[in-house]
Amino acid sequence: MTNPLLADWDTPFGLPPFDQISDDDYMPAVEEALAVSRANIAAIAENPEAPDFANTVEALERADDLLGRVLGAFYNVAGADSNPARDALQRDFAPMLSAYGSEVSENKALFARIEAIWDQRDALDLTDEQRRVLMLTRRGFVRSGAQLEGEAAKKLRAAKARLSVLGTEFTQNLLADERGWSMRLGPDDMGGLPDFVVATAKAAGVEKGANNPVVTLSRSLIVPFLQFSERRDLRQKAYDAWGARGANGGKTDNRTIAAETLRLREERANLLGYNTFADFKLETEMAGTPQAVRDLLMQVWEPAKASAQADAAILERMLHADGFDGPLEPWDWRYYSEKRRKALHDLDEALLKPYLQLDRMIEATFACANRLFGLSFAPIEAPVYHPDVRMWEVTRDGAHVAVFIGDYFARGSKRSGAWCSAMRAQQRLSGDIRPHVVNVCNFAKPEEGKPALLSYDDARTLFHEFGHALHQMLSDVTYESISGTSVARDFVELPSQLYEHWLEVPDVLAEFATHAETGEAMPEDLLKRMLGAATYDMGFATVEYVASAMVDLGFHDGPAPADPMQKQAEILEQIGMPHAIRMRHATPHFAHVFAGDGYSSGYYSYMWSEVMDADAFAAFEEAGDPFDPEIAKLLEETVLSSGGSVDAAALYKSFRGRLPGVEALLKGRGLDVAA
Ligand SMILES: [Zn+2]
Repeated sequence: MTNPLLADWDTPFGLPPFDQISDDDYMPAVEEALAVSRANIAAIAENPEAPDFANTVEALERADDLLGRVLGAFYNVAGADSNPARDALQRDFAPMLSAYGSEVSENKALFARIEAIWDQRDALDLTDEQRRVLMLTRRGFVRSGAQLEGEAAKKLRAAKARLSVLGTEFTQNLLADERGWSMRLGPDDMGGLPDFVVATAKAAGVEKGANNPVVTLSRSLIVPFLQFSERRDLRQKAYDAWGARGANGGKTDNRTIAAETLRLREERANLLGYNTFADFKLETEMAGTPQAVRDLLMQVWEPAKASAQADAAILERMLHADGFDGPLEPWDWRYYSEKRRKALHDLDEALLKPYLQLDRMIEATFACANRLFGLSFAPIEAPVYHPDVRMWEVTRDGAHVAVFIGDYFARGSKRSGAWCSAMRAQQRLSGDIRPHVVNVCNFAKPEEGKPALLSYDDARTLFHEFGHALHQMLSDVTYESISGTSVARDFVELPSQLYEHWLEVPDVLAEFATHAETGEAMPEDLLKRMLGAATYDMGFATVEYVASAMVDLGFHDGPAPADPMQKQAEILEQIGMPHAIRMRHATPHFAHVFAGDGYSSGYYSYMWSEVMDADAFAAFEEAGDPFDPEIAKLLEETVLSSGGSVDAAALYKSFRGRLPGVEALLKGRGLDVAA
């Protein structure tokens, strides 16, 4: 019998035949697909014909077509509906795929052909998109060390291998410290804690085998504990333990790991010809240089600090009114801020929830896409990997655009969080391939027969992931490697965060935020309080975030510090970190930066994207219509259809006529009013 993953997919829209695939099919399919990929690579590298764009770069684009199809189906189910067999497959595939990746990037004959095409690029009649794909392909090889020989190549390989070991150790130490600490709560220690915190603490106690409720260092427990506990001494104890993760001495201490990591990153960058690791990392980003990142962060820092200091003065008065002397401390902030929040915008989630029905909010995402881009959505039936999965055909003026797949409910087999992926990406090289785009969320599943209800955060997540989906669905490029969301990391969140703004458009909420039982629209007062609560305490949130981003940048844009903790202290001193706020992630537990190099020298990118989404939505506000057809058309033509075919900064400029400014972000975060 043929493996259904390798056969032609005679299914609606060419979707994977999930009803025929069993877990036993994945390994043989991946082995076979890898063999095909390897044969393709060898054929390109050993081609006796002179290298040209078609026989080398385009052939490389197609080399993994089969592998991509198999893995597209696999990673979708492995993330959204796993089981022990799929977990084991994921562990087995990782080294197989990384070995293949290294083989390709270290293939000298292949790189020589790319280099030859690069050298004659001006003489070749390439389109702009082809030139871009050539540049990106070559850059990928160069950045992974294809130009290095002998000793230098060996050193680079050793540095990369050691860095990956250090990243794993960092994560494991952090987990050990997080699991190793807990604080028992006696009957006198519960003051101020709402029922849900007590319940979480009890459940944590049971898990630890204790008879008492306990506080642990899991964010979902410690943060509410710090928000609600009236016991200042216990808050301090818990906060200190939380801040000490990865810095407790002994075997699980991450400080020497951080120092070695920074040293090896610098070595890696130097071997590849860059002055600093930040220069290396930022080369592929929209920001481009460390200076551009620093400029942006500092523009946000000063108003955020001013706002946080004004808030701190208010919170400190509340502390003194409670009979405590001395300054407001970090373990006080969340507690007094929560009290103040309650007074300012008391928002009862229970009152809000019936207005945010999942099905109505899905309709809202579709309706906005219809008004902005003329897209229509019609439910379709096709084999699914789980009965909760829903599918729609997306069309425009009757023409097929994409398949959109929504998998909304939490279940034990799904990893946490929310994400968007393309099981199949848009491209035109192998025919007019339209995308299959998946949104996966973790919303609570309702009881049978009841409507699914969302929190406001959930509704934002729904719009966010749908924004990523639009980036895939509206993609209009020839080459898959630059299709859809294949853009710089600090640009990829623009479409998603931008789309969240349409949730807040009063017309949209008036039409779609209707009560599950009465069908009535949300009362204006509730709407106002909901929107007000969403931007509360932004001075604090911005300060703790920007401080972390500044330290991350400071670690990577100069010589590696011998003592990262001292460097961290110097940077915080320089920027004038407020006394009662600490970094969102201090160095010994800054997993974004040290667990791997995904966000190293890149933690700023959340803020970068937010600056852009606020500035981009302001284009609609300036036009006086959140659905202004001209601006929507321009947004699609520049940003949403282009993928990575054009440099991100150039794309943004062609949309907005200039690079983004921070004003709209400061206004959105309520930081523009601070003195
Ligand atoms: Zn996102």
